[in-house]
Amino acid sequence: MRAVTCTNAKLEVVDQPTPTPAKGQLLVEVLRCGICGSDLHARKHCDELADVMAESGYDAFMRSGQQVVFGHEFCGEVVDHGPRTRKTPRPGTPVVALPLLRRGDEVHGIGLSTLAPGAYAEQLLVEQALAFPVPNGLAPEIAALTEPMAVGWHAVRRGEVGKGDVAIVIGCGPIGLAVICMLKTHGVRMVIASDFSAGRRALATACGADVVVDPTRDSPYEHGKGHVHSIIDAFDLALGTVEKLHRLRLPWWHVWRAAEAVGAAAPKHPIIFECVGVPGVIDTIMASAPLFSRVVVVGVCMGADHIRPAMAINKEIDLRFVLGYTPIEFRDTLHMLADGKINATPLITGRVGLPGVEAAFEALGDPEAHAKILIDPKSEVKAP
Ligand SMILES: [Zn+2]
Repeated sequence: MRAVTCTNAKLEVVDQPTPTPAKGQLLVEVLRCGICGSDLHARKHCDELADVMAESGYDAFMRSGQQVVFGHEFCGEVVDHGPRTRKTPRPGTPVVALPLLRRGDEVHGIGLSTLAPGAYAEQLLVEQALAFPVPNGLAPEIAALTEPMAVGWHAVRRGEVGKGDVAIVIGCGPIGLAVICMLKTHGVRMVIASDFSAGRRALATACGADVVVDPTRDSPYEHGKGHVHSIIDAFDLALGTVEKLHRLRLPWWHVWRAAEAVGAAAPKHPIIFECVGVPGVIDTIMASAPLFSRVVVVGVCMGADHIRPAMAINKEIDLRFVLGYTPIEFRDTLHMLADGKINATPLITGRVGLPGVEAAFEALGDPEAHAKILIDPKSEVKAP
């Protein structure tokens, strides 16, 4: 079968043996596979990330000298089952799967390790337990977006965003757009998006963002009502609240505790999604955000970064990091897509065959032009 491999940052279409499914695995014919920002990054900087992965307990992440097949955002058709494996879903069934594969005693990340080749190929192996039939005749193109949309859904859930909260999305690349889509699917009424690129701002609008700003002209942090923007305001809020409670002629601390019990005592704050992932962004967000903001870091900054803890302390910033999704979030995302609850189509900006992967990587380097490019292994298209 044909596949695209990456070795020392070089992408090449090669012929490889078709993989054989082990017990509990399926062989899947790839219908569509998305090119992810982490593929672009891993192509040139995987060693840095591999070091951090090894330090956190995973030592099989790809290294630059190895021959790796990328591709963890895919939809395919079942071809075959491993030995002593239940024959479901039946051959011909379209499926999407969580990108994890068991090899012996270990589980590996599909598309980012030599031990679990990905879907930049005609066929790949997936775990039967993590493969879900695509419902409702959902198009493979949209089904292939399950993985990146699940990343967005996990971030929204980790952000504990209520429908009445203000959500601010910093960076409108594929991850930021996925977060915007899932915030709107979740019913969040005020989603503010910010990006330097006009092309990406247009995509943010298409994905449903309510306010879209160019950060060189406008601040994304000024659109929420009742947020606390300075320490002076926070001091004033503390004193003013106690003064008001005194006027009730009740012991003010009982009233405060009652308000706390129903969640009414916490100052209003936005939930900010960092979807850029380059050094300096987290600190800039913390310096610009209202006090008490919750910051969810979704963008993956690979190198070391610098933050000023005193800034976060002064503002009592709640900083959370997210990775991937859970199996239930992945399945729910697939079904939300199939039920037409997610407006994800604006993300798809290009399509190529395996010979066009190199050109697609180049094109994705320009934020104006593209968000998500899908690979169709049966196509011979050489440019997105
Ligand atoms: Zn990805």
